[in-house]
Amino acid sequence: MRTDGLSINLATVRQQWNLREAVEACARHGITAVDPWRDQVAALGLDESVRVIEDHGMRVTGYCRGGMFPAADAAGRQAAIDDNKRAIDEAAALGAECLVLVVGGLPAGSRDLPGARRMVEDGMAAILPHARAAGMPLAIEPLHPMYAADRACFNTLAQSLDLADRLGEGVGVAIDVYHVWWDPELAHGIARAGAAGQILAHHICDWRVPTRDLLLDRGMMGDGVIDLKAFRRLIEATGFTGPQEVEIFSAEDWWKRDGDEVLRTCIERYNAACRLS
Ligand code: ZN
Repeated sequence: MRTDGLSINLATVRQQWNLREAVEACARHGITAVDPWRDQVAALGLDESVRVIEDHGMRVTGYCRGGMFPAADAAGRQAAIDDNKRAIDEAAALGAECLVLVVGGLPAGSRDLPGARRMVEDGMAAILPHARAAGMPLAIEPLHPMYAADRACFNTLAQSLDLADRLGEGVGVAIDVYHVWWDPELAHGIARAGAAGQILAHHICDWRVPTRDLLLDRGMMGDGVIDLKAFRRLIEATGFTGPQEVEIFSAEDWWKRDGDEVLRTCIERYNAACRLS
């Protein structure tokens, strides 16, 4: 079973293993790319995380995550900017190919969604010089609109690509099937992103029916209703050949299973349901 073109977002096994154990497990299964989360890196320490990843020759397809720019006051917004600059530095140390941004939703007590979107744009503009100096692309991840209030007020590819265009060089998108599969403008959005060189990551999982939890019930590829091969065809048609990165938050299912079983299943389903050639 092939593992080339497969990356594991380490949130997928966050309940089973720490970063070191997860990277060792991926290596054991022949997986050569990962995407770690900031809390996992913090738990092990940045230097040790860098060493573990280098020792196993892992490609780092992204670093999760920066963002969360909107805040109720200027001090909060500045704190977010400072924290995002630290995330950029960590991503660079890890050799990550992009910093994934979950941009944030409404500040506490606010009903001003356009205002929150302006805060995102201002925050990204404030960190962009730092990102460019570090050579670290910023990947806006549009999230499903059910997260507009609390996680990300950018919800479609078109909206996110408009923002990337306004900000300019060094900004693109992380395209996660879970968040954008329903979009009637999906094909156009992917083609547009690809033509502009703005596809920075392709995250995969599946949409379960019914979905039992808004955040923590993502499905394993093949267990839901997303046509993952058709999706990948749109991505590859643009010339993007980067890995498909498995990202599954699953409190009641995959997070409760043996980690090696999870990775074995990721590989099987990647081959059966996702990989084109
Ligand atoms: Zn994602």
